[in-house]
Amino acid sequence: MEQQRLETYMDRYAELIVRIGLNLQQGQSLFVNANLDSAPFARKVVRKAYEAGARQVYVDWNDETVTRIKYECAPDEAFTEYPLWKSKGLEEFMEQGGAYLQIYAPNPELLKGIPSGRVSAANKTAAEANKGFRSYLYKGSNVWAMASVPTPAWAAKVFPELDPEAAAMELWDKIFRVNRIYEEDPVAAWEAHLAALQSRVDLLNAKRYRALHYRGPGTDLRVELPEGHVWFGGSNPTTAGVRFLPNLPTEEVFTLPRKDGVHGTVKGTLPLNYSGTMIEGFSLTFRDGRIVDYSAEKGLEALTSLIEMDEGSHYLGEVALVPHRSPISDLGVIFYNTLFDENASCHLAIGNAYPYTLKDGTGMTPEELDRHGANRSLAHVDFMMGSAGLDIDGETADGSLEPLFRQGNWAL
Ligand code: ZN
Ligand code: ZN
Repeated sequence: MEQQRLETYMDRYAELIVRIGLNLQQGQSLFVNANLDSAPFARKVVRKAYEAGARQVYVDWNDETVTRIKYECAPDEAFTEYPLWKSKGLEEFMEQGGAYLQIYAPNPELLKGIPSGRVSAANKTAAEANKGFRSYLYKGSNVWAMASVPTPAWAAKVFPELDPEAAAMELWDKIFRVNRIYEEDPVAAWEAHLAALQSRVDLLNAKRYRALHYRGPGTDLRVELPEGHVWFGGSNPTTAGVRFLPNLPTEEVFTLPRKDGVHGTVKGTLPLNYSGTMIEGFSLTFRDGRIVDYSAEKGLEALTSLIEMDEGSHYLGEVALVPHRSPISDLGVIFYNTLFDENASCHLAIGNAYPYTLKDGTGMTPEELDRHGANRSLAHVDFMMGSAGLDIDGETADGSLEPLFRQGNWAL
């Protein structure tokens, strides 16, 4: 791809994020969190946002080299304190109705070799400090979106055989492809895709399954769905009715599991990048919803720190269905970036359930959410467990089973 074409597609992608992802409204302000290596693209987003009528666009740059230096050199106390002025400021921004965009492109190997105690302390401290901010993402009051662009470190991990420039180009090509940027009319292509996801959602909501049964290599799992569970996919409406698309790309339909209704064992099928550490070849065993046993070939300490973050991180909060044949999995690339890998594979999330996936859930108190089986946690981490060998049955109200997935794909 020559430079000029790259620029054209980057512009289209930036526009798609602002118009379809965030659906930014006239006079609304936008907060962008971006990796410093993504600056040329982030600046395009800023321009598109103002063109769409943004009042203010703020960019918070994160420099992964500085992050790495901190993990290597800072005293231990630096990992158990958090700049509250920062989390409070962001919370205030959301309270005033702002839009939030994360340009998510972490280096999968950033924290390789860093003592895991530092990483888990920092994760927990940040999760607690940002609880108020994150509640705005969970309750559906604000528009927000996540999208990714290549960085040298990420591209090198995905395409280690290529030189840096070729690797970045190859990754751009994949990102444009799965985001339908090459289509003659990307917005129309997205509308058609979102309509297809919506018809799956409508079908599943009509089914009212009591439980899903998963069977695959290393997996034998029964996941109960609470009464009042609601399936979602594609774009979400805010509580004020503004449709936005939180993930670009997105291929999933999802709801919440019954917190205490998960039984059996599940095997992770793709590596999981958990804040800078890779977790691979892992397995989780559940009894009455709780993780009672687990193992990992790589990254066991990181997995432990995730599960031990709080009480709720011993339970699941999301059930998502993605066919094995999807535009992303058809590329045959492991992205080491959950935004892409979760949309190439059926997945589950450890931790918090989105209250809106439960009927009337956004208005419920924490106690009411508990009573309805919705998990609560500081963590929400998707992990991939789909494969060509995965079968799923849906259990109907009368207890009979019907095929939902066969050999990794929709059978319904
Ligand atoms: Zn998901
Ligand atoms: Zn999730």
